[in-house]
Amino acid sequence: MTAQIIDGTLLSKTIRADIAQRAAALTSRGKQPGLAVILVGEDPASHVYVRNKVKACEDAGIRSVLEKYDASLSEADLLGRIAALNADPRIHGILVQMPLPKHIDPHKVIEAIATAKDVDGYSVLSAGELMTGLEGFRPCTPYGCMKLIESTGVSLRGKHAVVIGRSNTVGKPMALLLLQANATVTICHSGTPDLSVYTKQADVIVAAVGRRNTVTADMVKPGAVVIDVGVNRDDKGKLCGDADFEKVKEVAGYLTPMPGGTGPMTITMLLMNTIESAERG
Ligand code: NAP
Repeated sequence: MTAQIIDGTLLSKTIRADIAQRAAALTSRGKQPGLAVILVGEDPASHVYVRNKVKACEDAGIRSVLEKYDASLSEADLLGRIAALNADPRIHGILVQMPLPKHIDPHKVIEAIATAKDVDGYSVLSAGELMTGLEGFRPCTPYGCMKLIESTGVSLRGKHAVVIGRSNTVGKPMALLLLQANATVTICHSGTPDLSVYTKQADVIVAAVGRRNTVTADMVKPGAVVIDVGVNRDDKGKLCGDADFEKVKEVAGYLTPMPGGTGPMTITMLLMNTIESAERG
């Protein structure tokens, strides 16, 4: 079997076209959606991520307000900026790019963002909404993974989904979303003695570890859906995911590539959360 490759770039394009229409409709009613992006310090990867997010907003007709600060910005000043953005009716989403400089407590910062504008879905309240099945913002990466799975047409009801990784931003919310979609869910992590015991039974595998070749072909049930979230480099310095792509492709039914799989969908879901916030508010 050769897997169908799930094209995250193409799916993103389709969803972003819909987002752009919704943004235009809001703008024509005098309510252009707005996303504030706060970047503190000089982390080069963060600068790239932020640039991509700002560009995606512009392309979709969402107003982006980029606030860049020196690494010496105090925690109190950052909290002050967030309070001002919380009160600004032209801003529907607030994103603080992580990591922050060591002297700033990221938890305090995330909790300072109004839940109605927490488009990253990282706050305790947003996590609680997801946990209890209430409406709210879903963290963008797992939300995007759900759209990728949905695009295959494979129903999750009654299926066994295995999530590898249990971070608060990817693994745990991913497991909750799969559970909400009526899958039977197993969460694996660094303390799981033999991953393959679980993955071999899985109809869906979501790998969110950050270690290449975590999922090899012998660990995959023929026909399974494999969603690869990990971002790694191979020996030649080329980007790769957590799955051994070339070999897993011969066993899985559906597989996301890296790059071009979960990455573009993460930004797309950030735009989606921002639009939903503007439509609600
Ligand atoms: P993280 O916070 O470092 O979490 C990694 C998880 O993997 C942890 O739960 C860890 O277990 C688990 N793990 C580590 N080694 C393992 C092993 N040998 N077997 C099984 N589980 C193992 O990372 P993250 O933020 O969730 O991100 C995961 C990966 O996704 C990274 O490569 C990141 O760059 C990438 N990412 C991609 C996107 C995207 O848009 N494509 C977005 C976000 C993140 P413990 O909890 O036991 O330590």
